[in-house]
Amino acid sequence: METPKGSVLETDEKRKAVLEWLNAHWPKEKRPCPICGQTTWNLSSDLWVIARLTDKRAVDLGTIYPSFTITCTNCAYTMLFNAVLSGIWQVPQSSENEGPTNG
Ligand SMILES: [Zn+2]
Repeated sequence: METPKGSVLETDEKRKAVLEWLNAHWPKEKRPCPICGQTTWNLSSDLWVIARLTDKRAVDLGTIYPSFTITCTNCAYTMLFNAVLSGIWQVPQSSENEGPTNG
């Protein structure tokens, strides 16, 4: 499958950062897939966003969780990791300085 342009994890540097984080936090003895038992995983090239659903069944795009996934190459079971807490994605600082200007 071709990687779409603009993928966050398409560079070797970013992928290396994710793999280093996984190696530091995921013990080798716990790497078999919980569904099929195979140990071969594929890191996605993209970050994904989980958005909050409100009690009115609306998607709250102001409350999102950037995430990366790894998928079992045998059964497609997918694990989701918080990209902010893992340090892979930095949350932009206050938007007060990024708004439109009257310049
Ligand atoms: Zn599996």
